[in-house]
Amino acid sequence: MKKFLIAGNWKMNKLTSEAGAFAEELKAKNFTNAEEVAILVPFTQLAEVGSKLAGSGIGFGAQNVHFEKSGAFTGEISVPMLQEIGVDYCIVGHSERREYFGETDLTVNKKLKALLEAGITPILCVGESLEVREGKGEQTFVANQVFADFEGIPRNMATKVVIAYEPIWAIGTGKTATPEQAEEMCAFIRGVFGGMYDNEAADEILILYGGSMKPSNAADLLAKPDINGGLIGGASLKVDDFSAIVDAAAQLK
Ligand code: PEP
Repeated sequence: MKKFLIAGNWKMNKLTSEAGAFAEELKAKNFTNAEEVAILVPFTQLAEVGSKLAGSGIGFGAQNVHFEKSGAFTGEISVPMLQEIGVDYCIVGHSERREYFGETDLTVNKKLKALLEAGITPILCVGESLEVREGKGEQTFVANQVFADFEGIPRNMATKVVIAYEPIWAIGTGKTATPEQAEEMCAFIRGVFGGMYDNEAADEILILYGGSMKPSNAADLLAKPDINGGLIGGASLKVDDFSAIVDAAAQLK
C-alpha cells in the first residue's frame, strides 16, 4: 500500500493560543490515517502543540534547526533542544530559508546529518525557480541539490529522509504544478536517489509535492504514483482545508 505524509508548514503564523486550539481541533478529527499527518510549527508553539496532539498519532515538528549541538550561535535552536520537546520532524532547506536566510546545500547537508543522528525525520525541500524552469534546467538543478544535500549520508539513514519537491514558482503563488509536472519531477527525484543508493531505497523514500496544494487539487496530485503526500503552506492554516487534504489521502489508501 502506498505510504503518505500530509505535512502542514505554518511558516511564521499563529500565536501559541491559536496553535493549541488548532491542534485540539485536529486531534478531534480522529483521522484513520493520523500517523501520516504532521504539522510543522514555529519554535514557540512546539511544546503546546506537542502536548495537545499527544496520543493522537499526528506528528509535529519544527521548520528549521542549527547543525551544532550547542555554542555561541545567538538566536539559533539546536537538535537536542528539539529532541527534548519530542519533535518527530524538522523541515530543512525550505526555499524561503535558502532565499532569505543564506541556507546552502552545505548547511542543509550538515542539518540532515545532525537530525538523522538524533532520530528526528528531516523533511528536505528541493525545487527550482521559475527562471530555471523556463530555461529547461529544472532536472539538472534539482539533481544537483539532491547530490549535494545527501553527500556522505549512508543508505540506512538516507531512506529516513522525506524529500519535498517544491517548485519555487508554485509556493504561495496560487500556481500549482500540474499533477503531470509534479509527478514527472517526483519520479525524476526518485530516479536520482535510486542512482545514488539503489532501487529498493528509491521505493522506500517518501517524496512529497509542495506548492499551492489545496482541497480542490489535492486528490489529483496525491493519486500520482510517485507523489507520497504534500507539504502544505497556506492551506494548512485552516483546520477544515488541511483536514480535507488529509481525507483525500485517506481515500487513496
Ligand atoms: C510551503 O511553503 O512549503 C508551501 C508549499 O506553501 P504553499 O502551500 O502556501 O504554496
